Amino acid sequence: MENCIFCKIIKNDIPSMKVYEDEFTLAFMDIANDVDGHILVVPKKHVVNMLDADNETLHHVYDTVKKVSNMLVEKCGYSGVDILNANGEDAGQTVFHLHVHIIPKFKGDGITAWPKFNGGKNGVESTYKKILEEINK
Ligand code: 5GP
Ligand code: ZN
Repeated sequence: MENCIFCKIIKNDIPSMKVYEDEFTLAFMDIANDVDGHILVVPKKHVVNMLDADNETLHHVYDTVKKVSNMLVEKCGYSGVDILNANGEDAGQTVFHLHVHIIPKFKGDGITAWPKFNGGKNGVESTYKKILEEINK
């Protein structure tokens, strides 16, 4: 898609540090340099995010997320990964081509990739009831 930075990376119109590539997906280093080893996995097909994606595309993306994560753990000395994925502007998505962040982890690395929440405002049970009410309408 025109003007999509990740489509340009996929087409090699702009350079990237590729970690893994197959027919359907690409994994490359995130340029943020916010945490060591930050990798993005994208489908070669342009879809906006998970909410917009067909199941086949999602399947390919998560196959690659698993493959790259296993490589990091089995070959690179990491002991786990955090997987992050923002869907929609209000969820923090800034690039509107589906991407999954892989943050490689090891014991004592001092990195908290899991968000720190401030505590719910409405209570678990009342939110649960509201969600059930809406989805069963
Ligand atoms: P989001 O905020 O949408 O979940 O994540 C977008 C990510 O894309 C950010 O972590 C950002 O650093 C990364 N990013 C944005 N532009 C580029 C780019 O041109 N190249 C690479 N490798 N990463 C990018
Ligand atoms: Zn795109």
